[in-house]
Amino acid sequence: MKGFFKKGLEDEDDSSEIHELRQSVLDKKMPEPVEKTVLKEIDRLFKIHPSSAEYTIGINYIDYLTTLPWNQYTEDNLDINHAESILDRAHYGLDEIKERILEHLAVRIMKLSAKKTILVVDDEKMTRMNLSHVLGKDGYEVEIAESGTKALEKMEETTFDLVITDLKMDKVDGLMLLDSIKKNSPGTEVIIITGYATVLTAVDAIKRGSFHFIAKPLKLDEVRTTVKSALSKKTGVMNTRSPVICFTGPPGTGKTSLGQSIATSLERKFVRISLAGIKDEADIRGHRRSYVGAMSGRIIQELRRAESNNPVFMLDEIDKIGQDFKGDPASALLEVLDPQQNSQFIDHYMDVPFDLSKVMFIATANTIGRIPAPLLDRFEVISLSGYTVEEKINIALRHLIPKAVEDAGLGRNPLVFSEAALKKIIREHTREAGLRELERKISSICRKITRKLVKQTMDPTDLEITEKRVDDLLGPSQYHFEIAGAKDRIGCATGLAWTETGGEIIFVEATKMMGSQQLILTGSLGDVMKESAQAALSYIRSNTQIFGLAPDFFHGHDIHIHVPAGAIPKDGPSAGLTLAMALLSLLKGKPCRRDTAMTGELTLSGRILPVSGIREKLLAAKIAGIKTVIIPLKNQAELPTLSETLIKGIRIVTAGELIEIMDIVLKDS
Ligand code: ADP
Repeated sequence: MKGFFKKGLEDEDDSSEIHELRQSVLDKKMPEPVEKTVLKEIDRLFKIHPSSAEYTIGINYIDYLTTLPWNQYTEDNLDINHAESILDRAHYGLDEIKERILEHLAVRIMKLSAKKTILVVDDEKMTRMNLSHVLGKDGYEVEIAESGTKALEKMEETTFDLVITDLKMDKVDGLMLLDSIKKNSPGTEVIIITGYATVLTAVDAIKRGSFHFIAKPLKLDEVRTTVKSALSKKTGVMNTRSPVICFTGPPGTGKTSLGQSIATSLERKFVRISLAGIKDEADIRGHRRSYVGAMSGRIIQELRRAESNNPVFMLDEIDKIGQDFKGDPASALLEVLDPQQNSQFIDHYMDVPFDLSKVMFIATANTIGRIPAPLLDRFEVISLSGYTVEEKINIALRHLIPKAVEDAGLGRNPLVFSEAALKKIIREHTREAGLRELERKISSICRKITRKLVKQTMDPTDLEITEKRVDDLLGPSQYHFEIAGAKDRIGCATGLAWTETGGEIIFVEATKMMGSQQLILTGSLGDVMKESAQAALSYIRSNTQIFGLAPDFFHGHDIHIHVPAGAIPKDGPSAGLTLAMALLSLLKGKPCRRDTAMTGELTLSGRILPVSGIREKLLAAKIAGIKTVIIPLKNQAELPTLSETLIKGIRIVTAGELIEIMDIVLKDS
């Protein structure tokens, strides 16, 4: 396009070039306001000297606008069975999650494939019959009305997607009908039919909100395309009115790949941006063009790259979005996701609206806790909590290993991982709720085998990966299972915590020494956790009789509570119970059972309050070899929703008061 501008001011005979450029813009069939803006910009540029910076900025702007996918989109595949088989093929397990995704897709498919309803209003019988016949054949549900008054009556009973009305009619004419529709049923599109003499009025009708006009005598092709584009605009709006899916869960649990599968099943393009650390609103909404080096925001950039205006668009790590003096990116995102506003999304760089309503947005987050409330309100949250060892083995065998074998060029070699070897990798070389590290370790093993084969230092007929080979290839175990072989200790209680990366086992240690009644707390504890420790101590001090302790046990002493690993910040109320049990173990001189882990917030009167992340915590307990898990009574309702493989082998005890679990946790020494 730049070639069009090479003469600029210096050449007087540039009108043909302007004409050519204008024509190329007109051919793009951009929405009217955009086309107008671009044409105006072209006219302006021809008055500017080509060597000026403003000229270059202008050219880039025109180039940018004309290459956006205004009319480019992919046709959706609306076959729900196809979607189901793609999800099943790409993802092991996750039955409940898949069901929810399919339900969500089913609603969209239903809305998209529902027959559109059209009301044809004309006092000429011939026109009514013709339109009704043609549009009925195109698959629309058509009703007719012979006057404006009749049309108003019909519209009281039903809502139509589109009304095609003659302009000139007795009593209630086309414009009156239009005004009434825009007032009472703003979602209904209107197309005006006009005779030659009334074209000017029809233009006026467009200003008053009609989608377009068709001139008499009617040309069927024109009718068809105008109706199609009026209704496709409507489809887009309906499309996004359903809430936005937000996958939450620790890294590597399949959030991104589920999004990809949704795109594959709908046969849409897939794009993804990470919002981690985005602080500047301009990253979402673009910079104004007056800025040197101004650019459009990430949303528009990605759509341009995708060359489609209806991709599946993943907004990754939406919980990590920042905020500072340069505006609030969350509110810009809200506009992007809001169906009332996103059909008119204005990027500051473009300065003309782009319709985002056909885009299917999907968000991901590690936890929902930090998602700004107005955004969360738009989401249908689907949580992925992590996988058990058995599930990981199955996923590795079916998905991760075949892919890694292929990537490492071992396609034709019979590389087999024994189940024991996989278990070893999972338990001793990774510590995660998801599958990222496991995927990396498997890939690493495959690459090492390839290298050995290439160097001919390995027998190609003996490629089984055994436990021993895992150690040889990956080196000594990185993680050890403290629980299984660990000694029960006085003053050391096992707790379950929940972090962004999934469930975790924590140990709370308490010790007592001569001092001046101080409670010392270490281990990077947050304020809430510190307060929980104080509350636990106060509860015990005020109930010494129940616990059989001397009323003045604190007198002349300090108590120190430490939670390793000291460098990792920890917070939250759910460690209250564990803190109290560590103290009781210390004060009563009875060791806590190491293989008994607990979670629960403790009140000053010893009641145990419910906590979140039970599934994640149970997963961590299971992987760590915990035998008994104590959870708050009020979390009991969640137990039936947990899968059998998750709870198999673990004894789950529910408790409403601390006193109920004393004997379960403390051992007689
Ligand atoms: P996230 O986006 O949650 O961090 P990813 O989607 O990137 O996770 O998943 C990490 C890897 O694990 C990918 O290779 C993905 O295909 C694989 N994966 C995750 N969950 C499953 C599953 N249920 N079945 C098969 N593969 C899975």
